[in-house]
Amino acid sequence: MKTEEIARDLISRSTVSPVTSEDSFAHLIQMLKKHDIKSELREYGGVHNLYAGFGDESVCFNGHMDVVPPGNGWTSDPFDPVVTDGRLYGRGASDMKGGLAAQIAAFLELKERGHSGASLMVVGDEEQGGRRGTSAMLQDLREEGRLPKVGVIGEPTDLDIQVGMRGIVWLDIHVFGDEYHASKPRLGDNATSDLPEVLKTLNGLEMSHSEDDKLPKPTSEVTAINTGDVYNSTPSRITVGMDIRYVRSQSPKTIVRDVESALSEVEADYRVEVRSHSGEPFLLENRGFQEAAVSAVESVTGDTPEAVTSGGASDGRFFAREDIPFVEIGLDTEEVHVANESCSVHRMRQLKESYVQLAERI
Ligand SMILES: [Zn+2]
Repeated sequence: MKTEEIARDLISRSTVSPVTSEDSFAHLIQMLKKHDIKSELREYGGVHNLYAGFGDESVCFNGHMDVVPPGNGWTSDPFDPVVTDGRLYGRGASDMKGGLAAQIAAFLELKERGHSGASLMVVGDEEQGGRRGTSAMLQDLREEGRLPKVGVIGEPTDLDIQVGMRGIVWLDIHVFGDEYHASKPRLGDNATSDLPEVLKTLNGLEMSHSEDDKLPKPTSEVTAINTGDVYNSTPSRITVGMDIRYVRSQSPKTIVRDVESALSEVEADYRVEVRSHSGEPFLLENRGFQEAAVSAVESVTGDTPEAVTSGGASDGRFFAREDIPFVEIGLDTEEVHVANESCSVHRMRQLKESYVQLAERI
């Protein structure tokens, strides 16, 4: 089956994250069956995922079936794919049903060519953090002694090769004040008065680290402010949420220390907490695998892809956790999560061919 047809079929299923129905995989299971490949549906906490493999299952294609909600501003039905001027339009075209279609087509072609083995992992909650998809499935595969040797993830990269990413920590900074009735302002300290100084200190906070020549600089941004929804009393606590991307010389511990030390200069009563630590910094150390990926894409497109480390979080961090080398290679990054999302049909075919070439080089 052609990559484009598979992509159209995938897009026509409105699999807004997380995927909670087995039916979303029914057609894919049929398609795999026609190629003598047995699928396993794996459900974790109500999220449905699919795993299929043949031979030694050594090269794992990992892609996600879930998409973000379509939102507004579409000029066509987001779940009724159309091709205009060589571009396929629909929710998930680039993130990442186009990439997933290329993976499925490559997987089937490898089976037909008698390749030694590959596996296909199609998950249903990447957009929700991946815990009930890739993370849970890799844990199961480890227990079953079936972990792949390498991972190939189809997240958008503009056909460059993502070989690393920064770690991610979310912090909660609680700023405390006195709770009193708003009609009696002389009764205490209003925590909201401390907020401007706190925010100024936190946004873009410089954290201690040694220069990492392989990963982008650390970043720290305030992304949430929660004061509750009471209007006639002052808040006893305001919680400021932060997103921090960090490099290999840092850790959640050093980050909390840096935030605390910066805030000690501010006149406020506060406490810093790690809300979540969803990924360690990662850098692919396996040069052979990286070179194979570069040469695979180059042989198809004629261009030398860049090895990039600037992308956001993906399920790759779970491969990193299991010490499985992985690369990400996928479609257009500019079209991700937008209205009228699209991908180039030509690039999608090139991506499929690159996946086949990469598997054959391993
Ligand atoms: Zn994605």
